[in-house]
Amino acid sequence: MLNIVLFGPPGAGKGTQAVKLVENYNLVHLSTGDMLRAEMKKGSPLGLTVKDLIDKGELVSDEIVIELIRENVNNNKNAAGFIFDGFPRTIAQAKSLDAMLEKESMNISLMITLEVEEQELIKRILTRGETSGRTDDLDTGIIKNRIKVYNEQTSPVADYYKRQNKHIPVDNMGTIDETFDCLKKVLDPKIVTEQN
Ligand code: UDP
Ligand code: MG
Repeated sequence: MLNIVLFGPPGAGKGTQAVKLVENYNLVHLSTGDMLRAEMKKGSPLGLTVKDLIDKGELVSDEIVIELIRENVNNNKNAAGFIFDGFPRTIAQAKSLDAMLEKESMNISLMITLEVEEQELIKRILTRGETSGRTDDLDTGIIKNRIKVYNEQTSPVADYYKRQNKHIPVDNMGTIDETFDCLKKVLDPKIVTEQN
């Protein structure tokens, strides 16, 4: 199996690259942000619970996102591997994910961080906001808060995987295809190893 944590600040391009990785490596894409937005769209009790936090750019509780991931991992027993996009966002979430996978004799193969400068992140998110229908993409104040939350609460997760020698940074200031080529260079050798 190839289980990838796709990491990086808001607007770094995780969702965009995840779609290409799914196509190329036949992986299952698990984005907690997409799952939460689907709940909000349905108007489910969970959606209503998380709406205020998401609108402010604050983190949803560990319990909620861990449960969403657990359900989706269990529903994809035959997956060739998973791309975790936007999760884990705290060390506690990373530890829960490790424990959850270990129970199923699985593990994280590697974490890839997409690196983009802050000014460029804000520019990209505002552009996305023109079409994404996401209110949290439209307001510079909220975007800055999301970046702050990332720097304070989420970026330590990279150290967690660094300690496991699983962390690989990839520059994403260039084009979508340039970055995808870098990802393939990292992942193709992994595929061979993971199958043997
Ligand atoms: N969010 C969260 N935990 C998650 C995923 C998303 O709290 O595991 C919330 C958080 O408020 C975040 C928003 O959902 O700002 C959007 O997250 P997403 O990952 O979709 O956005 P991105 O960071 O990729 O722009
Ligand atoms: Mg995303």
